[in-house]
Amino acid sequence: MPPPLPIYKIYAVKYAGPLKSSVAMVLWNTDWEKTIERNYYLWVIQGENETFLVDCGVAPSLAEERKISGYVNPADVLRKIGIEAAEVRKIILTHINFDHISGIELFPKATIYVQEREFNFWIKDPIAKKPPFLKFTDPVGNAYLANLEGTDRLVLLRGDQVLVPGIEVLLAPGHSPGLQVVSVHTLRGTAIVGSDCAHLFKNYEEEIPSSFIMDMIAWMKSYEKLKSKVSSLDLLFPGHDLKMWTDYPKVAEDITRLV
Ligand SMILES: [Zn+2]
Repeated sequence: MPPPLPIYKIYAVKYAGPLKSSVAMVLWNTDWEKTIERNYYLWVIQGENETFLVDCGVAPSLAEERKISGYVNPADVLRKIGIEAAEVRKIILTHINFDHISGIELFPKATIYVQEREFNFWIKDPIAKKPPFLKFTDPVGNAYLANLEGTDRLVLLRGDQVLVPGIEVLLAPGHSPGLQVVSVHTLRGTAIVGSDCAHLFKNYEEEIPSSFIMDMIAWMKSYEKLKSKVSSLDLLFPGHDLKMWTDYPKVAEDITRLV
């Protein structure tokens, strides 16, 4: 019999927000005139012998440039639960949008796990330089990532893959061409750190994604896939929902335990 899978905890680390936007931005074509608040996060998956970060947050220089309200350097937030950014070894990068990649320079020793399809689009495809895509791009973070190609600090993944027992990445395109989410074995069963596959819990509950969808049909298929994998829908965590900050036990300032 194989040994039992290790149990992991998942923490949401809020590094910016609340920011206000139109509801329609985070809930496709709904309530254009209403507003809603959202936060920016990265996540920590922690087991007895393994710690993975999910995403990198935003670097201080870009936060200044984009005037992101409520911003705190992610390295300062992580320190509150004893994680030194400079010593982090493993980061799963869900997708290459500025709020998930820009902070990469804060983690000089980390190996980055990203889907090859995502890397090839944002780093190599000339279409990614067109105006709609540039809104999502941090050129500095992307250049840093591009420079890691060919080194042992960058692992390009092709589809679903178990990284260590109990932690598996799942390809879930829709929001972005090669977005990946992280399936995690927890005390409550299989949870998924879904990042921006959806911005809100409500996206999943109502089967309506955010407006930032590059391929709606792919999104619907990805959602079916994640639903079939996760132990219950409340364990499928979105990318920007305020609830991850307000509705879960707080373990330090701006850090909550999701499961
Ligand atoms: Zn995001």
